Formats: sequence, C-alpha cells, structure tokens
Amino acid sequence: DTPKTTYKRVMLKISGEALMGDTAFGLHPPTVQRIAREVKSVHDLGVEICMVIGGGNIFRGLQGSAQGMERTTADYMGMIATVMNALAMQSALEELGIHTRVISAITMNEVAEPYIRRRAVRHLEKKRVCIFAAGTGNPYFTTDTAATLRANEMNCEAIFKGTKVDGVYDKDPVKHADAVRYDVVSYDEVLQKHLGVMDASAIALARDNNLPIIVFSLDEPGGFKGILAGEGTYTTVR
Ligand code: UDP
Repeated sequence: DTPKTTYKRVMLKISGEALMGDTAFGLHPPTVQRIAREVKSVHDLGVEICMVIGGGNIFRGLQGSAQGMERTTADYMGMIATVMNALAMQSALEELGIHTRVISAITMNEVAEPYIRRRAVRHLEKKRVCIFAAGTGNPYFTTDTAATLRANEMNCEAIFKGTKVDGVYDKDPVKHADAVRYDVVSYDEVLQKHLGVMDASAIALARDNNLPIIVFSLDEPGGFKGILAGEGTYTTVR
C-alpha cells in the first residue's frame, strides 16, 4: 500500500540534533540509519530529494561566541559541523543503495562537491539525493535559511521540516498541555507571534518565494512518506 505523492522534488530539512538520538552530543549511527530509511521510502516513490542537515549536535556558532570565540570563526566551525553530518547521512543512504552527493557551500574538494547549481539540478534529475552541506557558506545564517535558499534554487515544491513535534503550536507543546496545533498558519503569523518554526530570515525567504514549509514529526516511523501523501498530522506554513 504505497501512498501516492504528487510531489516531484522536495527539500527535507532536519536539525543536527535529530541525528543524536537519545545521546547528548554528536552522531548516533542507528538514528542516522533510521532517518536514511525514511528518506529511502520517499526516494522509492520517485521523488527527487534535497536535504539540509544542521550542525547543532556538534557545534553552534552562537554558543561558541557566547563562550568568547569570535563569532564568524565560530559560525565557520558550525558550518563544518554540518559537513560531518552530511557525510554520515551519505554513508547511511549509500548503505541502502541510494546514490547521493554531498554538495558543500565551502569548497572542500576532497570530501564533497562544490556547489554548482546546474550540476546539482542534474544530480536530482538522475535521482541522486543531494545533501547540501556547510549551510549558505556565510556566517550569521542558519541551516534553515540554507534549506530555504537551496529549495528555491532547486525549484523544490516544498520544504519538509522534520522535528520532534508534529507541527507548529501556539505555544511550546512540551511545556504546555493546552497548546494548540495549527493545520495551516501564514508566514506573517509565524513572524509576528515568534512561533519557533525557523528563524525569521528563513521564513521571510520562503514567504517572498511562496515556498510552503511543512512541519512534521520525524519520530513517527514512516512519517516522512506519510506526510508526503498528506497523511498524519502536520502544519503547513504558507
Ligand atoms: N551556520 C552558519 N551559516 C549558515 C548555516 C550555519 O554560520 O549558513 C553555522 C551557525 O554557527 C550555526 C551552525 O552553523 O549555529 C549550525 O547550524 P544550525 O544552528 O542551523 O543547525 P541546527 O540547529 O539545524 O542543528
């Protein structure tokens, strides 16, 4: 019973912390493998997949700068952390027989391809999963903004943001039992109410290009494939 999907090309954004599993730092290989299987189930439907993975499980620029590091240096360290996560995901996907490319915004030719837009598009057409690493390549940005930027450049139909919760709530559902989930919420409401979907620059970039953001739970097995078919609970930001 393969759920049908009308999507041709999508962006999957996950945080670095999604790769930690229940550990406190770094990579938890069984969790990386589980997420790779989620990606495979969607790839098997013929959907072209872009991925951006954060780096917060290893290093966050803001944290480093709060501890006295120079901000831009700390941000470059954060970007490099995302490359490590991307390589881990590439390894897990290729273990499942899926061809992938890690494409880095910071040139690192020995480990990843440089970002060349037309080349990345070609990879997608050939059904290779493209994992965009090193964020936007610029300090002061986040991987949410990188995901939005690349999704626009690759003409993705939507960004799927896999999180720990099944959508966007009016307040933190972990702290408040009466939190209410939105089915649909506008970009402007997300910005005005500071709903923690993505940072403001990512939301604005999505809004200005009419790119929907679908927030869903990645903890639900089969969740990614289900959400693409419109099943389960999620929030659409549009
Ligand atoms: N980063 C950056 N520019 C970018 C993307 C990321 O400087 O375009 C740095 C920033 O320091 C950030 C870190 O990389 O803290 C890790 O990315 P992010 O915090 O977005 O990861 P996530 O929260 O998704 O795990």
